[in-house]
Amino acid sequence: MNGGSDVEPMNLERRTVVKLTGLASGTGAIAGVASGTESSTAERSTSWERGRSDGISVTVLGSGASSFENGRANAGHVVHVDGEPTFLLDAGGGVGARLGEAGVDLTALDGVFLGHLHIDHTAALPAVVKAAYQRGRDRPLPVYGPTGTDDVPGTAAFLSRLFDPETGAYNYLEPFVERYTDGKLELEPTEIDATVGEDDGIACVRDEDVTVEAIPQTHGAIPALAYRFTCRGRSITFSGDTSLVTDNLRRLADGTDVLVHNRVVDAHVDPDEPKTDLHAYAAEIGATASAADVRTLVLSHLSQTDETEIEREMELIAREYDGPIVAVRDLVEVDPDGRIGAVEPIENDVLVCE
Ligand SMILES: [Zn+2]
Repeated sequence: MNGGSDVEPMNLERRTVVKLTGLASGTGAIAGVASGTESSTAERSTSWERGRSDGISVTVLGSGASSFENGRANAGHVVHVDGEPTFLLDAGGGVGARLGEAGVDLTALDGVFLGHLHIDHTAALPAVVKAAYQRGRDRPLPVYGPTGTDDVPGTAAFLSRLFDPETGAYNYLEPFVERYTDGKLELEPTEIDATVGEDDGIACVRDEDVTVEAIPQTHGAIPALAYRFTCRGRSITFSGDTSLVTDNLRRLADGTDVLVHNRVVDAHVDPDEPKTDLHAYAAEIGATASAADVRTLVLSHLSQTDETEIEREMELIAREYDGPIVAVRDLVEVDPDGRIGAVEPIENDVLVCE
């Protein structure tokens, strides 16, 4: 299945794309396809206040893809549990600043989960690691990610090439941390098998207060993973980057409260273009969300520079999926009931001395 190029004009009587206006100003746009009315949408935007939510929620740090043209940071999300930042999902360019704006305490993180190791998901990782230890982190930082192949490093080799105290590109960091802080730089890589096969199992990566499960995804020739975080029966699933060739995401996301899906390939993109090996069309995303009985579909890692292009893709998804669809921007939070809150960004003043 693909979106094709012969898309008919929209005539979705019940589904309307609306913009949420009750949120704090920030970068990028936010729009949602909802089956409700404007008033219920307004309630959606104001009925949940950050930090007052029990259980699991997700904060969007970077809702953009790899370009810098649409005012969105590259990929990055934080899973909060009972209001505490617990897991960082990806750390693309711009995510460092967003972590600060969102007030995320890097010393509190229980782990970093990398969907895959492309630049737009990992470029800020060294800065995040440094900032965590400079801030006083006093315990190891677990980093979960995919296995490698003969052609690309896995997570352990990737971290080693960055941070090894002798051979790493940032080999200054370990002595820096030890000299200037009381902490010790300790990264604990865990590689998760990202080989796509015939009948891939769902791996249970952690089984504590929050259960974390993972499954391989197709993303060109790059090993990639989707993750599902479940806390007290509520769950948020992250597709990672995927072309949705397999049924794996549907199986991992089955019955999930929130599916955060990365990147929509515009319907007019020719199926022979390379990007279709990396990402999915709107119709495929909608069909997957519908088959998995996802309660709220969140679109992130957006490459579109024009809001109307996003709306168009949302409407195509809505043909396949009848639940709420939300295209997020940076610095918003979504809870398992699909309620959306805004993070108030830090606004620095310009100081002039004449
Ligand atoms: Zn990406």
